[in-house]
Amino acid sequence: MGKRHRVKPDCGTRSGYDWHRRDAKELPCIECRNAEALYWREQRVIRGDVIRLNNQRRRARHFKALGNDIEIQKFTEKEILDTYGSDCHICKKPIDLNAPRQVGKQGWENGLHLDHVIPLSKGGDNTIENIKPSHGYCNVVKNATIIVD
Ligand SMILES: [Zn+2]
Ligand SMILES: [Zn+2]
Repeated sequence: MGKRHRVKPDCGTRSGYDWHRRDAKELPCIECRNAEALYWREQRVIRGDVIRLNNQRRRARHFKALGNDIEIQKFTEKEILDTYGSDCHICKKPIDLNAPRQVGKQGWENGLHLDHVIPLSKGGDNTIENIKPSHGYCNVVKNATIIVD
């Protein structure tokens, strides 16, 4: 029972979610549930991208072995910012390049995410033409909509 006296984290965070469940042994409030759901939604997007990129690399190696050279374009974050500037391509407002990028951290909504304009799941690719800067928030909301539809 001593654990119940742990200082309660702010609601709307993942630690708030854990606090409700572990310390208070209650159903987390809606804000905390949203924070937790948003986190996992983003993890799904990130992991999905990594898996697809690995598959794409494996395919490229396979084709190379067959003599067909498929080029995978590599790019850096700097190249993307140099190409498109630092305004969000979704809402057109400036991105705070110093804000944290990890969902849930203070101010992450305005932080930089690199958004696949056409998602990989819809046939988009990992080229600089298809990757533009966006706010963390705009990116997560966009991807959440795509997963639902
Ligand atoms: Zn809460
Ligand atoms: Zn935006």
